[in-house]
Amino acid sequence: MSITPLMPVYPRCGFRPVKGEHCHLIGEDGRRYLDFAAGIAVNLLGHSHEGLIGAIQRQAATLMHVSNLYGSPQGEHLAQRLVDLTFADTVFFTNSGVEAVECAIKTVRAYHQHVGNNRKYEIITFRNAFHGRTMATISASSQEKMHKGFYPLLEGFKYVDFDDLEGAKAAIGPNTAGFLVEPVQGEGGIRPASQEFMQGLRALADEHDLLLALDEVQCGMARSGTLYAYEQYGIVPDVMASAKGLGGGFPIGACLATEKAARGMVIGTHGSTYGGNPLAMAAGEAVLDAVANDEFLAQVRATSERLRTRLEQFIGNYPELFELVRGKGLMLGIRMKFEPREFVGHLRDNHQLLTVAAGDQTLRLVPPLVIGDVEIDEFFDKLSAGAASYQPPAATS
Ligand SMILES: *Cc1c(COP(=O)(O)O)cnc(C)c1O
Repeated sequence: MSITPLMPVYPRCGFRPVKGEHCHLIGEDGRRYLDFAAGIAVNLLGHSHEGLIGAIQRQAATLMHVSNLYGSPQGEHLAQRLVDLTFADTVFFTNSGVEAVECAIKTVRAYHQHVGNNRKYEIITFRNAFHGRTMATISASSQEKMHKGFYPLLEGFKYVDFDDLEGAKAAIGPNTAGFLVEPVQGEGGIRPASQEFMQGLRALADEHDLLLALDEVQCGMARSGTLYAYEQYGIVPDVMASAKGLGGGFPIGACLATEKAARGMVIGTHGSTYGGNPLAMAAGEAVLDAVANDEFLAQVRATSERLRTRLEQFIGNYPELFELVRGKGLMLGIRMKFEPREFVGHLRDNHQLLTVAAGDQTLRLVPPLVIGDVEIDEFFDKLSAGAASYQPPAATS
């Protein structure tokens, strides 16, 4: 037998974390790593947040799981908070980001089919988007590397260039049901949509009775400097998927919708055994307690400013490595002059700095939102040492 007990779908590296302390991870060998990856934009509060740990411990000892066939005071409370904090009137809880997007896709289709518009099923999505790994969500993405080996795809998605409003308009036809878009593409390279694009999609949706569904799985939950990134675009969506940071490390997702958009999501149409169980709700509450307030969000924006200003100065020292800085809040990317995977490995293995590669030659920085000047200083020490000791590959672009 040569297959590993863990199905070998990830290119796992040699770093094997066994403990987390605030913004650091500690490996099996005892070494400390500065964590600017945060489980890919998940650990908003770092790794040993007392409020989050306490909430999970208390709830685990009280009631962990019950069926969604029963009333849920825990779910109602968290859903009400999300409703009060956002555009939404209603929330479906899931266990992951992809299930939240899947629910958003079903909500968009059901909106039309519920009133008999059976031919309006097609969702316009954007090139290099990432929406997760189920059949529906790989079908929603234009990235062929995710399709290979899994044909046939689910029908009903049409891809248009990201940030191309004219393209989106031209793609609307008699089958169109809505748009699905990340306000800031994460996996695709930390690329924020323009103001005109997001406002234009909203206007097109209104004009053609389409739903605007946002995938804020990565950019949502305070990561962008506002609770959700859509707030910075001066629009509201009809449907939105949230996850990653929402549980701060506990697996939770949520599909949020307006009453109108959710008209097809009636009894018997959707479900989840675990989704929204009391343990998950306790984690979600603890994260919201920490992040959903003006002080915390203002601090994320201020930290982002400091990190970004220094990054922009720093990259000028290494024009052969770095091209530009982009992103929002503490979701920042450095576009590099070559594929960043090897550099990510160099920073990790030789300088104990954890970052993540993203598409479009982008080095992704998604640290815990609780980093302060001490962590930023440590980050620049490690990044400077890493850049100085790195031998870039022969030019690729
Ligand atoms: C991570 C991610 C997903 C999928 O979330 P999972 O929890 O891995 O299922 C979907 N959309 C975006 C934008 C993401 O970043």
